[in-house]
Amino acid sequence: MVDNAAVQDMTDVMTKFTAYIGKRLPTDVKSKLAELRGNEKNEMANVIYDSMAENQDAADKLNRPSCQDTGVIQYFVSVGSKFPLLGELEAILRDATLGATKLGPLRHNAVEAFDEKNTGSNTGSRIPWLDWEIMPGEDSATIEVYMAGGGCTLPGASTVLMPGQGYEGVVDFVFDVITSRGVNACPPLLVGVGVSTAAETAARLSKKAILRSVGSHHPNPKAAKMETLLEEGLNELGIGPQGLTGSSSVMGVNIESSARHPSTIGVAVSTGCWAHRRGRIKFNSDLTYEILSHEGVVL
Ligand code: SF4
Repeated sequence: MVDNAAVQDMTDVMTKFTAYIGKRLPTDVKSKLAELRGNEKNEMANVIYDSMAENQDAADKLNRPSCQDTGVIQYFVSVGSKFPLLGELEAILRDATLGATKLGPLRHNAVEAFDEKNTGSNTGSRIPWLDWEIMPGEDSATIEVYMAGGGCTLPGASTVLMPGQGYEGVVDFVFDVITSRGVNACPPLLVGVGVSTAAETAARLSKKAILRSVGSHHPNPKAAKMETLLEEGLNELGIGPQGLTGSSSVMGVNIESSARHPSTIGVAVSTGCWAHRRGRIKFNSDLTYEILSHEGVVL
């Protein structure tokens, strides 16, 4: 028997949280932007960092989205097999997207493939995009909301290297992507790298990588070292905020990996932009919740 009141409660929270994510950046991103601004010596770059901060303040005061591009709304769900609304979550998140589109308001960004029609609701076939991980025996649900912009994370790239290309091939691929289409996104970027066995597994992991906090590290020390070296190398490019030169190119590089087939190295890159609109919320089985990505939120 479905508890309709509980479904409505969770839909209301997810509606407000999704709309909120469009307006206020997560705490780790705000801190990193302030740190990069503090270290920047280039005058033009500092003007841009200041205008980014003003943009955020204005979005907050006017209660409006901080970027015109809603992106495509994606939910990454880690849900326990005993979470009471497991079977209702897909409908809850779809309704939350519809509600957030009105509440935000959020620009309409879902175009049905082949029909080439904007649905006018930010929903459509398989949109919002849902990514599922089931946690056996658990009774909570942690949901990442991500607004994947048309300039930033959606034009990701993925390939499969031959084993002889090794980890040098991974580095080459990351630099090729960032120096070609990387500046389509508004820098400084959070670069997600997936190292895996196939194009699609690496692509998924590269997206998971940009959901991780800025400044966090891969648990394997060799992968963590590669994150640091890639960050230093990409910063030496001096792409700067909005791609107009400066001391930094990136907010960081996060790598996620899996074991791989001995004859392939799948590698993928997803880039988050400076307006990296993601949020993490954890629901307990009684639907009390905690917002993990932003400080001091009142929905
Ligand atoms: S890259 Fe980010 S900040 Fe720039 S337009 Fe896209 S969503 Fe907005």
